[in-house]
Amino acid sequence: MRSGDTTVTGAELARLLGDRLVLITQNVDDLHERGGSRAVLHMHGELLKARCVECGDVVSCERDMTLSDACGACAGRMRPHIVWFEEVPFYLDEEIPRALQAEVFLSIGTSGSVYPAAGMVVEAKRHGAVTIEANLEPSGNARWFDHQVLGPAGTTLPELVAEIVGA
Ligand SMILES: [Zn+2]
Repeated sequence: MRSGDTTVTGAELARLLGDRLVLITQNVDDLHERGGSRAVLHMHGELLKARCVECGDVVSCERDMTLSDACGACAGRMRPHIVWFEEVPFYLDEEIPRALQAEVFLSIGTSGSVYPAAGMVVEAKRHGAVTIEANLEPSGNARWFDHQVLGPAGTTLPELVAEIVGA
């Protein structure tokens, strides 16, 4: 799936559902926000932000970082606000578990084979969510979904969004 399709549909869902929508993404760019989405949980961090290694303060950073970058709050060293290999993704303790208590869990354009994201459908289903997968082809965890919508996102997602919002 092209991320542009996801962004447009994410923004449309955000407009229609307001605060009831939580968008969980592994993308580190800001395409969802630029498309109009607000409640976006970037579980692998954000490329355009920096984080203090001492106090955890997160700030906007749209330029190249240097070793002399210091935290405005505590003067600690700054690093990209990105989850590196073998680091623990963000939001796994509170925000994502809370979001997985949703009425509808929609997975768009994922392989369903990379954890912890691939396990979210199981948790959502355990809480009673209707689970829907929208993909070009069935994912690695397709058996956990109540419904599958297969095909190009640009064609299938607008219809799916209309069905969800109208339900
Ligand atoms: Zn700091």
